[in-house]
Amino acid sequence: MKKSLEGKNVLIIGSGIGGLSAGILLAGLNYHVTIAEKNPLPGGLMRSYRRAGIDCPVGVHYVGALGDNEPLGRMFAALGIDAQEIFSRMGSEGVTDRYIFDDFSFDLPANIYTYEKNLRDSFPNDAPAINTFMKSLREISERMLDPAFLLNQGDPFQNMDYLQPLGAFMDELAASPRLRAVISVPCQLVGVPAADCPLIFHHMVLACYLFSAWRLKDNGAKMTDVLVRRFEKLGGKLLLNDGVEKILFAEGKAAGVKLKSDSKIQADYVIVDIHPKVLLQLLENDSLRPSLRQRILDLSETEGVISVQVSVDASAHPQIAHNIYRLHIDQKGEIEDGVFYQVRKVNDKISLLSIITKSLYGEWSEWEHTFSGGRPKDYQEKKAAIGRELLQKAEVVLGPLKNANIIDIFTPLTIRDYVNCPEGSCYGVMRTARQLLKVASVNNIPIGGLYITGQNALAPGVMGSILGSFNVVRKIIGAERFVKNIKW
Ligand SMILES: Cc1cc2nc3c(=O)[nH]c(=O)nc-3n(C[C@H](O)[C@H](O)[C@H](O)COP(=O)(O)OP(=O)(O)OC[C@H]3O[C@@H](n4cnc5c(N)ncnc54)[C@H](O)[C@@H]3O)c2cc1C
Repeated sequence: MKKSLEGKNVLIIGSGIGGLSAGILLAGLNYHVTIAEKNPLPGGLMRSYRRAGIDCPVGVHYVGALGDNEPLGRMFAALGIDAQEIFSRMGSEGVTDRYIFDDFSFDLPANIYTYEKNLRDSFPNDAPAINTFMKSLREISERMLDPAFLLNQGDPFQNMDYLQPLGAFMDELAASPRLRAVISVPCQLVGVPAADCPLIFHHMVLACYLFSAWRLKDNGAKMTDVLVRRFEKLGGKLLLNDGVEKILFAEGKAAGVKLKSDSKIQADYVIVDIHPKVLLQLLENDSLRPSLRQRILDLSETEGVISVQVSVDASAHPQIAHNIYRLHIDQKGEIEDGVFYQVRKVNDKISLLSIITKSLYGEWSEWEHTFSGGRPKDYQEKKAAIGRELLQKAEVVLGPLKNANIIDIFTPLTIRDYVNCPEGSCYGVMRTARQLLKVASVNNIPIGGLYITGQNALAPGVMGSILGSFNVVRKIIGAERFVKNIKW
């Protein structure tokens, strides 16, 4: 590697949104950055894939807080990326998400004032609970405008007050089951059950979408291209189709990597954008003390999903401006299961219906030892049967679907193989209130020169993964220089 102005070489493992955003920030500070990606194409979960000539989404369906002075908008600006090139604003009809329950529905609007009004109109008997809930939500929402708060939000020692589980908070409020159900929906977006979801995660996710909600203008491949272009323009180097097999050490510190191609790359810093359990496989057994290694191995994962992509007739099914959640709740108002629907325009003839619902890894254990591209007929049959069932359920919500054609189905096994994520978990390790202290140790791996970014560092999602990158850069360059050099 050539010497950079800083004289520091950085090697990043993985080109997901976490790896690319860390690469952009450090390349912008004149570090010499190389990203090594195991897949032939960059982007990880951010990237869309093509089936029947249609771009199908994997891990970016909508994001929040991308406005000019909003948290994610400011992060994109600091990356030097025009977010408007990638995303367009949702809520043109005043609704971001429609939650449909068995006997009532609720519209999530794109601002906090209307949200409060919708809650008060829908649940007039819950006024005291709504008062307390909104006070708490507004407090976090306002604090989210402070970057220092965002960077410390995952630190259990900094934010003890906000770590109580949403379930216990709603018990104290004596929220009615319906109010409870409506408030809980954003927990689905971080993959944590509401009963055990730290208040701060719930509030941050909800607040983001109440700042503003955005969808991809085109697709995840284009989003990836924009980030890769920015990274390469700043001098970053992207190696594709060459996964990292080992992290190399010198004098007890991470000092580079060995790739599948057998080549070795030396680096002053190694940043990993991969799951911490996969990171363990890249380390020698004695690199971490056994208790920490075991703690990481014991972390529970967020649940997997099955996703069905369906092409439908565009004239009968034009794009729907909001997302739809069909949810089932128990008597207490806890969400038992839910299905997410999004209908997007592809062209004048076709719209794409994406359906996502929970699917446990264990349901696919029979094929655990098989890999994408080589799975047997019985797996394909099970997948197809679930796809047909989900399509029928979609027709109950959306009405009869004209020219519906399932063009792809992915399962937790697909996600596992695609990005190297144990159990195909959607959002990496599970950040429950109960597990938070253990999860925090992942972000503080005690190996010199080794840092973690992406959804397993601080928080999941596009915003959480980028936040992990800002945090890594702050650790590498020091808090003082970070404040001076990274304007966001
Ligand atoms: C179905 C689904 C829907 C989602 N919807 C949304 C949404 O609407 N909005 C939102 O904000 N978030 C959403 N998310 C979450 C979001 O996609 C993720 O949090 C985010 O993309 C994770 O980025 P990352 O950089 O942490 O990891 P990843 O995208 O997983 O990237 C990791 C990269 O590392 C590579 N890699 C792994 N091992 C190695 C190795 N040994 N050597 C080299 N490379 C390696 C992988 O191939 C991959 O490219 C969704 C996720 C899923 C699964």
